[in-house]
Amino acid sequence: MTYPDSSQPSDFIRAIISEDLRTNKNDGRLVTRFPPEPNGYLHIGHAKSIFLNFGVASEYKGGICNLRFDDTNPSKEDVKYVESIKEDVRWLGFDWNDRLFYASDYFDTLYDYAVELIKKGKAYVDSLNAEEIRAYRGTLTEPGKNSPWRDRSVEENLKLFERMRAGEFDEGAHVLRTKIDMAAPNINMRDPALYRILKVPHHRTGDKWHIYPMYDFTHCLSDSIEGVTHSLCTLEFQDHRPLYDWVLDELGIQNHPQQIEFARLNISYTVMSKRMLHKLVDRGDVSGWNDPRMPTLQGLRRRGYTAKSIRNFCNRIGVAKRDAVVDMALLEHSVREDLNQHAPRVMAVLHPLRLIIENYPENQVEELDAANHPNDETMGTRKILFSRVLYVDQDDFRETPPKKFYRLTPGHEVRLRYAYLITCVGVVKDEQTGQIIELRCTYDPATRGGSSPDGRKVKATIHWVSATHSLPAEVRLYDHLFATSNPNAVESGKDFISNLNPASLKTLRDARVELSLKDAVPGTRYQFERHAYFCVDQVDSSDDALVFNRTVALRDTWAKVQQIQTKSEDK
Ligand code: ATP
Ligand code: MG
Repeated sequence: MTYPDSSQPSDFIRAIISEDLRTNKNDGRLVTRFPPEPNGYLHIGHAKSIFLNFGVASEYKGGICNLRFDDTNPSKEDVKYVESIKEDVRWLGFDWNDRLFYASDYFDTLYDYAVELIKKGKAYVDSLNAEEIRAYRGTLTEPGKNSPWRDRSVEENLKLFERMRAGEFDEGAHVLRTKIDMAAPNINMRDPALYRILKVPHHRTGDKWHIYPMYDFTHCLSDSIEGVTHSLCTLEFQDHRPLYDWVLDELGIQNHPQQIEFARLNISYTVMSKRMLHKLVDRGDVSGWNDPRMPTLQGLRRRGYTAKSIRNFCNRIGVAKRDAVVDMALLEHSVREDLNQHAPRVMAVLHPLRLIIENYPENQVEELDAANHPNDETMGTRKILFSRVLYVDQDDFRETPPKKFYRLTPGHEVRLRYAYLITCVGVVKDEQTGQIIELRCTYDPATRGGSSPDGRKVKATIHWVSATHSLPAEVRLYDHLFATSNPNAVESGKDFISNLNPASLKTLRDARVELSLKDAVPGTRYQFERHAYFCVDQVDSSDDALVFNRTVALRDTWAKVQQIQTKSEDK
């Protein structure tokens, strides 16, 4: 993390903040906020904003960051989202301390500000319906035209607005609008709405209100009320900035935060809008918001992502002004890097093939030492149990091996990880299907621990579990949720749903894992040696029926992407 006194600011936002602090703007205060709308669960895009707002505040002495729920649309919001958002922010490692706010706390103040704008002749009650308002607004190339209600007297506006508040009108009958300029080149400045009638109870204010303030009116004022100095938001709000400033200026408000826009996070092979994520959940394309294929923080967590890996990812992508799509491989790289360091190694067989060691005593069981991490001795060792009947992975055997296949094949010797050198001496096939159902092998007792005492060469080491000393497990292999890197690119008449990857989840029900996983706690992460990183599923796994989610494969596709990039840059 970059600290302002030790190095150059790492991005344009930190450059602005550093300069503001240097010149003692805002009396040397730094206040940011993360302002989620509680209408869905947080996704990795929100993590970028959390990391930026909380991160920046923590880097500067005295900086603070508020958590504010932007709860102005009760028809879509729910208290369950409030709770999950709080949980997710904490999980990511950030803390708002006592600075938890709700825009709805300001409803009375906002109402008073609206009345003030009416009194100043800067707002009016419009009685056009939604369709008419749209028609009057004009287009990008044509100016709008004034509503016939635009010149209502201040008294009439005040009276109507009061009656709107009292719930005397139906939804859509009136709106309170600013009086700016219907010919403004920026459409957002063509008398945008400040309040609309909504006869919906609110999760915090109950049925006190029949009108609710619009985002653009609420946001700047909430920022100002909380003493926010830098209001960091995504690029789509750039065209709203003049309105942000207009409201504060017209009301003559002293604390005028500076809105600064940065690029949203987009990631390949997924979608990042709550509307789309809602659709996937509603249609049942995924099992819920916490489906491990979802880009939500709950989904990523269940998948096995660590908070640290997500913070590292956010740090890597940085903050810029230009929209771009980040390669999913970079997110995967971040979690792989973390798990590579910290996840204990264990052995698991995903597609079991029985293997009998013919010269191993029937009832003998041996305890062998296995390292929990190849490069980190502090992680210690564990005992694994070896016996006459084992399982190995089907992929590790070929009856007629292709070139360069050094694993198990008749007549060849391989190493069983931490155990012995074995040689395949026979194959048992199902009489009807011809399928291989069992391998017959012999072992060399002089090679205990996998050593090769006479220095004879063994080209491959494979993993295994003991048949009786292993546990059954369900293993869920995840792939990209979408089959195309940009799911939003669709043929006409279709939507992003058509790009779903039909093979995004593959469930293996016959896997076997080593006995040490008997008491594996949900959420614990492991590397299944030679396979991938896995996490005990937090929803479906139980002591009697273990379920593992594949977090990320071992192979680093990001390294490959980078190689290709550097190669093409070298040209
Ligand atoms: P969505 O479009 O997914 O519904 P939103 O912007 O409506 O997202 P909010 O709850 O209003 O969601 O967002 C809270 C904060 O998170 C806002 O400041 C918003 O700009 C930021 N944010 C949302 N999505 C992203 C993203 N993809 N990248 C960076 N910041 C984001
Ligand atoms: Mg929003």
